Amino acid sequence: MHHFHYKEDNLYCENVPVSQVAFEVGTPFYLYSHATLRQHFRALDDAFDSIKHLTCFSVKANSNIAILRLFAREGGGMDIVSGGELYRVLKAGVVPNKIVYSGVGKQTEDIEYALQSDILMFNVESPLEILKLNEISGKLSKKARVAIRVNPDVDPETHPYISTGLKENKFGIDIDDALEQYIVAANLENLEISGISCHIGSQLTQVSPFVDSLEKLNGLIGTLEANGINIKYLDLGGGLGIIYDKETPPHPREYAAAIKRGLPSKELTLILEPGRVIMGNGGILVTKVLYTKPAGEKTFFIVDAAMNDLMRPCLYDSYHMIQPVRKSGRETVKADIVGPICESGDFFAKGREIESCRQDELLAIMSAGAYGFSMASNYNSRPRACEVLVKGDRFYTIRQRETFKDLVNGEIIPDFLEKE
Ligand SMILES: *Cc1c(COP(=O)(O)O)cnc(C)c1O
Repeated sequence: MHHFHYKEDNLYCENVPVSQVAFEVGTPFYLYSHATLRQHFRALDDAFDSIKHLTCFSVKANSNIAILRLFAREGGGMDIVSGGELYRVLKAGVVPNKIVYSGVGKQTEDIEYALQSDILMFNVESPLEILKLNEISGKLSKKARVAIRVNPDVDPETHPYISTGLKENKFGIDIDDALEQYIVAANLENLEISGISCHIGSQLTQVSPFVDSLEKLNGLIGTLEANGINIKYLDLGGGLGIIYDKETPPHPREYAAAIKRGLPSKELTLILEPGRVIMGNGGILVTKVLYTKPAGEKTFFIVDAAMNDLMRPCLYDSYHMIQPVRKSGRETVKADIVGPICESGDFFAKGREIESCRQDELLAIMSAGAYGFSMASNYNSRPRACEVLVKGDRFYTIRQRETFKDLVNGEIIPDFLEKE
């Protein structure tokens, strides 16, 4: 369920006409629905109500501090993957004891920052990281709470670029080597074993891979206990899929039910790291048609958003529904919807059946709330779009559109290139 819908022939976000926002802020822009985000967060969080759990929103899916604040106010924690994300999360007012830190390449400064901030847990991903974390903790006279991120070698049956839990992927420590590393970590002075974690991939549309990896983790938890290593947190990562097109992902209730059935008898606090399932259908990217251009059988709709604003189609060949902001009732055509960037990969859809549109009309690229703005760049020196949050019948700019001045911020012409 989301709150982007037509009234008569006009697309609304909650009670605000999308065209009105476009008129006020210009295009392109990201538009998020507060009611949708809150509803999605609660649907997942409430599904685990019967057990001790912490829902840590995956910050990389959407890192705007207003969005982070929204989830923090719902009682959510955060899953971060960098010092920059930690900065954002603290800025948003998230309490440190609800922050977990994943990532294969944590840097010294970022580890120090996280230790000083006293976060809940580091999900460590390699033997060398375990040693490094111990060393830095010692230097700062801290004790780092750690979970080992294990790679359970489970096929998530998703796009290869977003599959993370196979042996061949760079993430985590092979589950067969995990016991050895737990023993190493347990014997290090400045580490405290706190949990076990995994994250097998993104946009999963079945529960079975989650259940399979949980089963493998259960085995390991038993082995750890037998070796005198006790954990408090079981972090199952994120990865639950959404409907972009015709997918049939499980409802959070089904996902929760399957996981609850598979939990070990030992009482643990479950950690979840959802990103896409909460954000994905809570946001859209609104763009204006700059030009239409016939090309034989098909038509090009050249729009003012581009791959720098939303790179998923280019990166993963992913599908996004595209809808007119105002339905015209014109006949459908077969169109390539493309951006202005000088790359053939700069497209949002190819050969798409869509109501014919004209210059200056608006299109909504749906399901763009997750991995949309957070992946945006300035390629082709395009200022990044603004972000707007709708609540009821009002809307709020939560990030201003960048200016040309922002584009050169921090750039320096050295003296030897001084103007003559
Ligand atoms: C990306 C990521 C997530 C979130 O994945 P979604 O598919 O958006 O739910 C959770 N945990 C980790 C470690 C991640 O890297």
